[in-house]
Amino acid sequence: MPQEATSWHTLSVEQAMAELNTNPDGLSDRDAKLRLQQFGPNALKEERKIPRSVVFLTQFRNPLIYILLIASILSFIGEHPVDGSVILAVVTLNAVIGFLQEHRAEKALEALKKLSALHATVARSGEEIDIDTAELVPGDIVVLDVGDKVPADCRLFEAVNMQVDESALTGESLPVSKGIEPMPIITALADRSNMIYSGTTVTYGRGMAIVAATGMSTEIGRIASAVAAEPSQLTPVQRKLSSLASYLGIIGLLVAIAIMIAGFARHLPLLDLFFLGVAAAVSFIPEGLPAVITVVLAIGVQRMAKNCAVIRKLPAVETLGSATVICSDKTGTLTKNEMTVRAAYTGTEAFSVSGEGYAPEGAFFMHGMKVAAESHTDLDALMTALVLCNDSRLHREDSSWRIIGDPTEAALVVAGEKLGFKKHDLSIVQPRVDEIPFDSQIRYMATLHELPDGRKVAYVKGAPERVLGMCDRYLRDAREAPLTADISEGFAAQNASMAADALRMLAAAYKEFPSETCEIEHHDVASGLTFLGAVGMMDPPREEAKLAIQAAHRAGIRVIMITGDHADTARTVAEILGLLESGMRVVPGHTLDAMTDAQLIASIGRIAVFARAEPEHKLRIIRALKTRGEIVAMTGDGVNDAPALKLADIGIAMGITGTDVAKEASHMILLNDNFATIVNAIEEGRNIFATIRRVTLYLLATNTGEVLIYLSTLLSGLPIPLLPVQILWVNLVTDGFSTIPLAMEPREAGILLEPPRNPNAPIVDRSMLLRMLFIAGFMLAGTLGLYYWGLMHIPIEKARTYAFVTIVFFQVFNVFNIRSSRCSIFSIGFLSNPYVLAGAAASVIAQILAVHTPFFQSIFRTVPLSPAEWILCAGVASTVFWAEEIRKRFISNRRNEESK
Ligand code: ADP
Ligand code: MG
Repeated sequence: MPQEATSWHTLSVEQAMAELNTNPDGLSDRDAKLRLQQFGPNALKEERKIPRSVVFLTQFRNPLIYILLIASILSFIGEHPVDGSVILAVVTLNAVIGFLQEHRAEKALEALKKLSALHATVARSGEEIDIDTAELVPGDIVVLDVGDKVPADCRLFEAVNMQVDESALTGESLPVSKGIEPMPIITALADRSNMIYSGTTVTYGRGMAIVAATGMSTEIGRIASAVAAEPSQLTPVQRKLSSLASYLGIIGLLVAIAIMIAGFARHLPLLDLFFLGVAAAVSFIPEGLPAVITVVLAIGVQRMAKNCAVIRKLPAVETLGSATVICSDKTGTLTKNEMTVRAAYTGTEAFSVSGEGYAPEGAFFMHGMKVAAESHTDLDALMTALVLCNDSRLHREDSSWRIIGDPTEAALVVAGEKLGFKKHDLSIVQPRVDEIPFDSQIRYMATLHELPDGRKVAYVKGAPERVLGMCDRYLRDAREAPLTADISEGFAAQNASMAADALRMLAAAYKEFPSETCEIEHHDVASGLTFLGAVGMMDPPREEAKLAIQAAHRAGIRVIMITGDHADTARTVAEILGLLESGMRVVPGHTLDAMTDAQLIASIGRIAVFARAEPEHKLRIIRALKTRGEIVAMTGDGVNDAPALKLADIGIAMGITGTDVAKEASHMILLNDNFATIVNAIEEGRNIFATIRRVTLYLLATNTGEVLIYLSTLLSGLPIPLLPVQILWVNLVTDGFSTIPLAMEPREAGILLEPPRNPNAPIVDRSMLLRMLFIAGFMLAGTLGLYYWGLMHIPIEKARTYAFVTIVFFQVFNVFNIRSSRCSIFSIGFLSNPYVLAGAAASVIAQILAVHTPFFQSIFRTVPLSPAEWILCAGVASTVFWAEEIRKRFISNRRNEESK
């Protein structure tokens, strides 16, 4: 099989099938596997990834590390080989930790990519299955529908009104029509209408095609010999914090210089001075910050994915945390998308329908009596139209019934079965000749069928008011009668009353055509139809959506429902879901059309539901909300939703019902299509931000404490309390035992009780600054106090060991403080984040080693402490813990009083 050939467009369908050794039933699984081995995965090669060793080396590309390396060299020159080696060891350890963190974050994001990978529907051994596009092989038969991304280069053998957007390949922005006839060899790529190419998208109609070339052999693969790996995106907070880190770096250097000058004035030896400066810089610069933030984001994004929300664009994580409005589709997101026909009416009669779900068990009833299609010819005609003008199928899988296609349509097939209609049999009697696919903009679809006597009939089904508008007759006891304004109004009233019961309404009509007709267009069915009646189907609201809406409201997030459904249906569903409390309004699409932008902006605060809305309305709604300063999350699934998904602050595509086009335009994909997942993701987004703040506060507070200790000893003329190697140890090693566990902090309860975060608010705000100074103050007073007492009573080595141990304990206690800004650790529980306990234990053990093993004693110039002295140091350091606990108690008391 030639993967090279480029002349597929010249072959007939049969020739192409033969050439690729395949048939319309598709390959067998075995054959597909063999071909996958032969041709390789259907993916474009990514540009070579950065090798591990380079990633490791980049860990050293940091001004602080340069300083440390110089310090190390100077130590060796100055014949302080121990210090020199310690610095080297610490720098290396730091790089290893950084490398591992980066590696982990990268792995997490890669796993995410797999989750949002696109799928393709293929026929294999006669069955349609869903596979990862990477598994496609030449000879596969793919089924393509509106919104699908073409997964490989294919030769079409069925194309129904198919239009493809090829701009990605040819630059042509208008969609091109596709067919199946062979073409002359010289046809240019852009004109090969029987071929579809990888990377383009189906914008209309549907089709089936044989895969001719995959992976790098496709046209797009030839053009882009390798796709550039997507550059990793920095989130706004990441960017802000990196710049904060470099800002602090500069201050750190200035502080270091100031300290060296102060030391110089006190005639300290030059080399010591240099070390002092280095140590001060190390303690001030939050070198670990950017790396930890990356880890926090990766962990959060992984947690979201576990809960079915897959982030496609990293910055969306933060935007989620500040979302103020969620605009959600109704069908499938707020409702279960499990349609069941409950009622039907024809020109003269009304029926109710029994049965649940997709099982074809149940019957039609009139006045409590079971009815048969034979004795109700109008009902027969209505259901025939609804079953034939339909692209869905029903099949039994083990003991349960499953559907393929749109649930709205599947419900009609099921209802048909309840009258004894089999879709398969009907479509043999009246084969389909042509069709106009459903589109949520036009709200109907039509199919043309050939009757046994050769005449043609078009069946139209769609939104009742839409279909009624196309009719001038209606079927009454198997006869066509004129549809007067009165009668039409009667039908409309019937629709409205059924819609008010939360039923989704769908009407049907027909029109006969001469036997030579083989195509229909919109204008053919725009008028002169005969109305057949309508059915109403129930789509139960999701229980969890109701709770999620309540949670969103408490969190200060508005929820707006945008639906193509009828206003009355939408209103009832919205009422059940609790969206219409306190005088919120339902606005139909045509009313929205009549509003000016200014009017919309002024009134959108009181609108909870947009009904009969079209995808374009979503754009206006987003713009209006954005003008009011809202941060908008918007859901979507169809091709037409793509612009809105892009425009929204957070575009959310449906994982199950969403098209490839919508997914690619989105920032996030809901794997389970469930509204509750959005609220859950917002909670996680808020938590991620809270975690970032915690880690930042931790690093800044301990760093500030250390710098204050240095500055004040120098200014007061005391000998320095912490040796440079000690401060290196504290900053580059034991810090890691605290920040990573903090990054794993579980969600704080009540995070959804607060209003959304203003995305422009600074990360380090006033309250955080105050808390930082509060903590640093304790560290300064405790460490220095103990050290000063030591200087008076014991040898200086021991006093320094005191300071060294105390400061490490301060860090340990601080982690417990920082886990929550408001709640006592006793109420959130020590065990709720076991990583923190493990980290604390690791810090203490490391410190015991640093003080009690001869090896480290020689490095850190520490002396052994008695148990009582350990307790003394720990006790002094614990003051920061008790102080914070008291502060938290104070705050919560005040809060309680305020809320009383
Ligand atoms: P939503 O998904 O918000 O409920 P849609 O755009 O899917 O809205 O549908 C709008 C209306 O179009 C529905 O109320 C229904 O009357 C009609 N409709 C929906 N699906 C189909 C279909 N497959 N064929 C014909 N009409 C449909
Ligand atoms: Mg829909």
